[in-house]
Amino acid sequence: MNNQVVIVGSGLAGYAVARELRKLDKEIPIMMLSADHGGFYSKPMLSNALSLGKTPASLINSDATQMASQLKISIRPYCRVITIDQSRNTLTLTNGEEISYAQLVLALGADQVRLPLQGNGVAEVLTINDVDDYRIFRDALQGNRKVSIIGAGLIGCEFANDLASAGYHVEVIDISPQPLGRLLPPEAGVFIRQRLQAVGVTFHLNTTVQAIDQVEKKIRLALTSSELIESDLVLSSIGLRPRTQLADAASIPINRGIVVNRFLQTKFPNIFALGDCAEVDGHVLPFVMPIMHAGRALAATLAGTPTQVHYPAMPVVIKTPACPTVVSPPDFSVKGEWHVEADENGVKALYRDDADNLLGFALLGEAIKEKNDLTPKLPAVLP
Ligand SMILES: Cc1cc2nc3c(=O)[nH]c(=O)nc-3n(C[C@H](O)[C@H](O)[C@H](O)COP(=O)(O)OP(=O)(O)OC[C@H]3O[C@@H](n4cnc5c(N)ncnc54)[C@H](O)[C@@H]3O)c2cc1C
Repeated sequence: MNNQVVIVGSGLAGYAVARELRKLDKEIPIMMLSADHGGFYSKPMLSNALSLGKTPASLINSDATQMASQLKISIRPYCRVITIDQSRNTLTLTNGEEISYAQLVLALGADQVRLPLQGNGVAEVLTINDVDDYRIFRDALQGNRKVSIIGAGLIGCEFANDLASAGYHVEVIDISPQPLGRLLPPEAGVFIRQRLQAVGVTFHLNTTVQAIDQVEKKIRLALTSSELIESDLVLSSIGLRPRTQLADAASIPINRGIVVNRFLQTKFPNIFALGDCAEVDGHVLPFVMPIMHAGRALAATLAGTPTQVHYPAMPVVIKTPACPTVVSPPDFSVKGEWHVEADENGVKALYRDDADNLLGFALLGEAIKEKNDLTPKLPAVLP
């Protein structure tokens, strides 16, 4: 099939392109290759799943067979791509099979970063980045009550709230002086910390984990502050690293992610990337909204109408029911200052430049109701 589009990855990014492309072109052959089960699920649900009583199976909306018939595409679950030969337009799978493509889409996602730690318990540290990880974590929770989370960023705070709501005792460790240190000004950090503490989360801030040891049936975390925490389980959520190795080995340029222009195109005109693995015109944005915009633009390009992606301002809702929060962090390259109004019901923090332009915001508690008024006043991420 000399016009075949091959999509590697069956996460939100892979499916966004497949769905949009099929809307535009009913005939073009599309093959999706996935290292995992290939079913469609909403990854953001993972950090709300426990308190909602979701099993791993119930998180999967449609399995690979159902998705294949719904989108009229071919899906190959449990097929890992190990090499790309861009000179011959072929991929190789772990079993040695070669697959040809006319256009290739890399939607490979990102890996959880792991801290280099000492101790005999390091192998016990868990991460949750997909449904299979959630299954392992949920099984490990059976009969246990105390969980330590390394990292008080967006995903760490969401899991902390979820576990606390489900009745677990949660300890969160972070090197920053506050939760969500990269996203919130200090007043807002205090607010979310207090709200999460009120539902039973204990924070250990300004410190980090040095060693993790298995001591009988418990795991002991030794912090740089000299504190010792005993836990049943340890979850690490300190950040994501785009999966770039496959591209790099094929001489597809990488930087923080797989480098693509606003057409989502790599240096090679028929190889594209989007989602958590991609760096789009200098932006690595591992969130759902950028994926939806990129998916639509890329589908149009693949269907024959070269289309650049535009990103509007895309605030992120943080799923901490104990402290409803929505953030639109300012771009690192812009200069401005936080202007904060805080009371016991919420925090409204606006990041403005000297000319009073709104460049970002953080809204917590009751202030989240201002999201719809403020969002149109923000600059576009990619105009
Ligand atoms: C717990 C959690 C909560 C989140 N909450 C939010 C939220 O509230 N709001 C928000 O906007 N974002 C949220 N995010 C981020 C959002 O979910 C991600 O940005 C998005 O799901 C990434 O989709 P993706 O398709 O790029 O990557 P992934 O979903 O990771 O998919 C990558 C796919 O590539 C496949 N793959 C990788 N390598 C190979 C290979 N060599 N061969 C074949 N297949 C391969 C994998 O098997 C997988 O199918 C959350 C993330 C997590 C982890």
